Amino acid sequence: MYKTLKERYRPERQWPANSTEPFPMEGDILMLQFVNTFRNRSTGDRNDLLHDYECLLAWCCEFGIISHDEYQVLELEGRCYEHEAAVVWQRAVKLRESMHQFIYSPMRGREIHEVDLFYFNELVNDANAHIRFELDNNRPRQAWTDMEEQLAAPLWKLVKHAVDLVNSKAFDYVKKCQCGNVYLDTTHGKNRRWCNPLTCGQTARMKTYRKRRQEGERVKENAGEPKIMNVEIVEPKCVGQVA
Ligand SMILES: [Zn+2]
Repeated sequence: MYKTLKERYRPERQWPANSTEPFPMEGDILMLQFVNTFRNRSTGDRNDLLHDYECLLAWCCEFGIISHDEYQVLELEGRCYEHEAAVVWQRAVKLRESMHQFIYSPMRGREIHEVDLFYFNELVNDANAHIRFELDNNRPRQAWTDMEEQLAAPLWKLVKHAVDLVNSKAFDYVKKCQCGNVYLDTTHGKNRRWCNPLTCGQTARMKTYRKRRQEGERVKENAGEPKIMNVEIVEPKCVGQVA
């Protein structure tokens, strides 16, 4: 199951020729990548990749929210406590959909629904109950507490990522691609148009290219047709005699 998901989540962007850094997956940052687990929301082939608690765990492991050891422990716990695991999964889906509404509603000029805010606040309360500060090199640092073997531990960490994003300036630069995926526009001119230039961007460029080519062919066809031209023959006028 885990290996299958790992294959499925392979980024569609590939390593650029002149860099050692991989391109990010659609979404650019973790929370937006989580929102994009509902793939292609705006197209006919929309697909929700979070089917159940196990899928949620696999995603969290793939994206580094939990370690592989934690994945194995929680996967077993999830099988033992199916109902509780299903509730965590449902709450994770609610977190995702609330985040989507926080992004999408203002874009459409709509007010964010109070229910989404209510769910979000509930999740934040639960997550905050597991955060405390500990001394690290005589400096208070935020740490997670009482997380071991807790089915909801990955969800609380996701909630923290969501809070960080909503509180950040970056939240103003979240955009939605025509396919429905959200992404973070970090370009200087804030003019990025696609979640992934190698998929959506490429499709749009091909469309424009085909359209221009068709138009060009039409112009050529019209230019090839014989045209009847009206030529007016003007009689030369005698303007005077040469001496
Ligand atoms: Zn896209």
